[in-house]
Amino acid sequence: MIFAKQAKLPGGWASDVRIEQTEGRITAVEPGQAPQASDQRVDTLLPALGNLHSHSFQRAMAGMTEYRMAGKDSFWTWRELMYRFTEHLTPEQIEAIAAFTFMEMQEAGYAAVGEFHYLHHQPGGAPYDDLGELSARIAAAAQTTGIGLTHLPVLYSYGGAGQQPLQAGQARFGNDVDRFNALVARAKAQVAGLPADCRVGIAPHSLRATAPDDLNAVLAAHPSGPVHIHIAEQPQEVRDIESWLGARPVAWLLENVEVSERWCLIHATHMTTAETTQMARSGAVAGLCPVTEANLGDGPFNGPTYLEAGGAFGVGSDSNVLIGLAEELRTLEYSQRLRDVARNVMVTTEGSVGDALYTGAARGGAQALGRGAGEIAVGEWADLMAFDSSAPALCALRQDQLLDGLVFAAKADVVTDVWSAGRHAVQGGRHKDREAITRAYRAALQGLMAAV
Ligand code: ZN
Repeated sequence: MIFAKQAKLPGGWASDVRIEQTEGRITAVEPGQAPQASDQRVDTLLPALGNLHSHSFQRAMAGMTEYRMAGKDSFWTWRELMYRFTEHLTPEQIEAIAAFTFMEMQEAGYAAVGEFHYLHHQPGGAPYDDLGELSARIAAAAQTTGIGLTHLPVLYSYGGAGQQPLQAGQARFGNDVDRFNALVARAKAQVAGLPADCRVGIAPHSLRATAPDDLNAVLAAHPSGPVHIHIAEQPQEVRDIESWLGARPVAWLLENVEVSERWCLIHATHMTTAETTQMARSGAVAGLCPVTEANLGDGPFNGPTYLEAGGAFGVGSDSNVLIGLAEELRTLEYSQRLRDVARNVMVTTEGSVGDALYTGAARGGAQALGRGAGEIAVGEWADLMAFDSSAPALCALRQDQLLDGLVFAAKADVVTDVWSAGRHAVQGGRHKDREAITRAYRAALQGLMAAV
């Protein structure tokens, strides 16, 4: 049992809440109770967010691409460096980096992660003896940390729009549809060894790295579960897709594929007003990664139009250049304010922006990960985050201002506890296995940097 002085329930804030969980699911939520001696006591309890988009290995290159070189740096030069990096990663390093990255997510307040996993093969492109070797490493990192994993093996078949051949740096990513389907089957077997909240979806990488027939073939082979795709991150990508397929990426996808609630469109940065409205109505989740989108110079999301049309959204840490929860939500809102020269943008009509951002991202993140979570309610996975409302940054705030304080005014150190489907990995602000996971990460990076 957990006892919270206050908790954000679907109907609003409640005080003195006791929460019962059984086998990872919430089985009772009772406000107005007295704490009992055996309860785990926390200050303020929220549904924990799922981080809907991560490439965990990229955490290891954070800080290495912020140096201006001759000519104009762009997304595409960043990608070149990322490719050089991936040529050297070993399975052991991939596992250690993933575990460290997942731990940082949990300490930031995330209970779950969607790992968009495209590093499949050996350097040079030959498959490992076990086709799912690197999926198994991601599953092992989830097991080590206790995070709730939605594993998303990526179909990556082409080097660019129009079915261009893979480039040298993309050799470890490549699969045709048949081998991809075999890989997904293998990943499902591996993730079956994890707790019951963990699952496998699919991720056609982008319209530039797949082709219409292939996309339809994998969708036919996997008729249920999460589908994630990178869409419209860069203006160049939009131009390339438009000249190849005759429509902008989001417009093409909505016209040619049945996009529904199980879809998550990552970035969706460059959309016309019509695309934005139609995407919102499709029921798909916009997978926004505001810190990475700012870091890579992608551009801001069309928030006001999307929200007005009732669109669902969640946040992800993508390149993992910095893992933060408030930072993602804050950067999302600030990107809108800077563009629109306005305040309090990501909320429709009236109300708390922090609440709209947090509550929206909790629901959208859970939807995108195919995870029954996102609210503190009976039957949901016990994905919970507790923070300390008596911290100096928050102590003067009313209950209805606490989420604004959490998103805009506090640092991540106010997070005290995180449960992933009941697994209480973060206690007192630290992951319980922080030392061992960090030691393995340092050793992995030492080996990697000696090789690069
Ligand atoms: Zn991504």
